[in-house]
Amino acid sequence: MERARRDVYKRVCLLVAAGAIGGGLALFASLYSILASAQNELTSFASEFLQQDDKVARDIAETLDAGNHSPHPFCSEPDMEFMRELLFKSPYLKDVGRVRDGLFFCSAVAGKLTTPTPFISEKLIKVDGKLVYFGAHLRVAKGHTAEIVSQGTTDAVVSPSVFSDFNRPPMAYTGAILDRNTRQIQQMYTNSSVEMPLHYLLADKIMRKDGVLYYPQCSKTQPDCVLVAMPMDKIWSPHYSSMAGAFAGGSLLGIMLSGVIMVMNRRRRSLGNQLRRALRKKALWVLYQPVVDLDSGSLVGCEALVRWNDENDTPVRPDIFVGIAEELGFVGEITRFVVERVASEIGDLLRANPWFRVSVNLSAMDLADENFIPMLDGILKAKGVAAASVGLELTERSTADRDRTVKVIRELKDRGHVVYIDDFGTGYSSLAYLSELSVDVLKIDQAFTKTIGTDSVTAAIVPQILEMAKALMLKVVVEGVEEQAQADYLEERSSGLQVQGWLFGRPVPSGELRTRVKNEAKLVG
Ligand code: C2E
Ligand code: CA
Ligand code: CA
Repeated sequence: MERARRDVYKRVCLLVAAGAIGGGLALFASLYSILASAQNELTSFASEFLQQDDKVARDIAETLDAGNHSPHPFCSEPDMEFMRELLFKSPYLKDVGRVRDGLFFCSAVAGKLTTPTPFISEKLIKVDGKLVYFGAHLRVAKGHTAEIVSQGTTDAVVSPSVFSDFNRPPMAYTGAILDRNTRQIQQMYTNSSVEMPLHYLLADKIMRKDGVLYYPQCSKTQPDCVLVAMPMDKIWSPHYSSMAGAFAGGSLLGIMLSGVIMVMNRRRRSLGNQLRRALRKKALWVLYQPVVDLDSGSLVGCEALVRWNDENDTPVRPDIFVGIAEELGFVGEITRFVVERVASEIGDLLRANPWFRVSVNLSAMDLADENFIPMLDGILKAKGVAAASVGLELTERSTADRDRTVKVIRELKDRGHVVYIDDFGTGYSSLAYLSELSVDVLKIDQAFTKTIGTDSVTAAIVPQILEMAKALMLKVVVEGVEEQAQADYLEERSSGLQVQGWLFGRPVPSGELRTRVKNEAKLVG
């Protein structure tokens, strides 16, 4: 009772943990994608801003240049007409005028001043031979300020609305001029209510500080740069519900996945228990699949294949339940069951027909088990079955412990057994290693047989294996032969092959095998 409660508690903890991990991962992925899209937004905002800045700078430069080449006398009526024309053509300027020695004399909009006056501005900087007056008080529109740029005898008043399209909260910008040599930065336009860390312009990468995401970008053609910013909380807040959705979805998926794994594990554990009970009751059975000599077409032996239905009477594939028994450490009981069944069902057949051999599948654990050979010996002797009538199939996987494998194979062969390497080609061992192990027969895996007659790369391997097996004087059984074309191909390539597959017979109960052996014996006899 206590144990059952602990089990439930453990399972609930696991599900909660899987939910938290799944939710955490999904939330992380969602945060990552929100952040990536905010970064994208910032970078394209900065690029757009610099494009606009570039156009404005070009407009100012062209207008100033044209103004300085006026053919008319300074501030004369035709000169002012000339400036009006320049102003009309410019999309970004509000006025074009004349300056001399820092004093403003006349302009397209203000006309001619009775007394020339200096510009009054918050800040004056010099860039590229131009003077830039920031926050300059306008003479025409009293109480308004703008940026005025002057060069030579011409000045241009920049429209305060050139960047009005860039007021897109929660993003903010500060335009600045960066002198790459002195690394000095001059702030120009901004729509930020707080001062921005303009030294980030030197970093040239996305930065995050004090809960604000910053992206600096500089123009390729001008010394102009822009620093754009977006507060982190404004990045997340529109996505709170989708973040919660991602967390919930991820948790659910995590819980479902771990639930499925738990159910599968339980089924495996339960299958393991059912299999143990079945072995105790000897409720498994054995089928025999014929092995045929390809040249003569005559029956030469069979492979013993174990079968089992679970407690719902559902067949379970032998590779599945053998795997479970291996995992749970009792596969030796299956081997023992099969050897006993073979001896009791077809022992007499084997005794009476020395030309006929049965092969039994072994697992790695059988090789490691000291009691395996005595068990095999004991059962066969009790039924008077010769060792030569019983072959043993090892897979490449089960031969990993080389010393142990060599020892067991030697002992088996000394007794007169024939040793097979099963599923050859699916593992990593080389033919040379197998011949060192001194096995007698290779069973070429059905995966290779399937490729016969196709263009697949592996198809080329079959004749190679046949060649090498011949050179090493190994006998070969080709498994999974289903079609006549495959048999024809093999017959053309090699002689003395043995074959096994649906074309020559499916696994059958001992009764049917007996009939087949008797018919064959009559032919032989
Ligand atoms: P395996 O040793 O390679 O056995 C051959 C498998 O190929 C058998 O599947 C057989 O029914 C199948 N087969 C034979 N001819 C053809 C054919 O022409 N086409 C196709 N598609 N399949 C064919 P089965 O009986 O389901 O056995 C599967 C695996 O389970 C075996 O592969 C073996 O690894 C394991 N197994 C079966 N019986 C035992 C056993 O008694 N002990 C151990 N340790 N493993 C066993
Ligand atoms: Ca086999
Ligand atoms: Ca096989």
